Amino acid sequence: MSFTEPTPATEATTTTTIDQLKDYKGLKYDPNDPKFAGLGKNAIKRILRDEIWDSKKQQRLEQQREKTKQRKAERRQLISDGVIEPPPKKQRRPEITLTNVGVVIDCSFSSYMVKKEIQSLQSQLLHCHGSNRGAVLSVPLTVTSFDAPLQQVLDDKVVGWSNWKNIKFETQPYEDLYAKEDLVYLSADSEDVIEELEQGKTYIIGGIVDKNRYKGLCQEKATQQGIKTGRLPIGEYLQMASRKVLTVNHVLEIMLKWLEHRDWEKAFMEVIPMRKLKDSSLVKEKEEKEEEKEKEKEKEEQ
Ligand code: SAH
Repeated sequence: MSFTEPTPATEATTTTTIDQLKDYKGLKYDPNDPKFAGLGKNAIKRILRDEIWDSKKQQRLEQQREKTKQRKAERRQLISDGVIEPPPKKQRRPEITLTNVGVVIDCSFSSYMVKKEIQSLQSQLLHCHGSNRGAVLSVPLTVTSFDAPLQQVLDDKVVGWSNWKNIKFETQPYEDLYAKEDLVYLSADSEDVIEELEQGKTYIIGGIVDKNRYKGLCQEKATQQGIKTGRLPIGEYLQMASRKVLTVNHVLEIMLKWLEHRDWEKAFMEVIPMRKLKDSSLVKEKEEKEEEKEKEKEKEEQ
């Protein structure tokens, strides 16, 4: 009994037999494949090259693993032969030192922001957490009114955020968590200037990115709630190019630097990027110092 391969009726006109298959660097392909329709020779080659590259991914990975294994084994041998020094023992991250100055990031403004702005806020929170962890003196940090839209962006963008240490995420608003008299809402619009960060107080930063669309928003909110407000003494030290409203992470970083140096001027200079500073005598001083340093370097090199 002879066997003939059945050919489906619908494909009768386009089916390619095995001997019509073409070869590109060992890869057999069907020139009638619809994915090549209308493409020139070079475009087809590009697709085939990509397919070959993809098909060898596993092989490449295995080769890479083998190489790494070999390199490690060689290194271990060199260490045990005393040819090279063993690597220094990894140091554990030092414990953080907490102050008694609390900071709350009030994230109750999701409805004022478009998705992109919520994403910016998420990135600012990431910076806040990093700066606080790395600070000489860290603050107890709490995110309040933590809601679903913000959580969604964190879930999408930040792996393991829920395991972050030294930061609390609370769905409740700050007014349910703290006594009013211990709170100070930070606002660029406040008439009161913050001279010092007081132990035992909790400072609220408005968790909003709004490109200044909602001027005075946090000031108004705090006043309505009967909560004290205060602005950082920014105008007293530096003139900013654009405006005196800072991002959430810059506000926190300035506070952390103040706790370290007890000096607003120094804190600002370390945190606010140079491009935001205009005509500041401090900047000029800094530039002059840098120029001097450069000149000295040049002299030494001569
Ligand atoms: N449009 C918002 C500002 C958002 S800026 C508003 O006017 O309320 C984000 C937050 O950073 C502010 O809510 C405030 O808490 C803090 N902030 C920014 N600049 C500040 C400044 N110069 N002094 C004190 N807090 C500031």
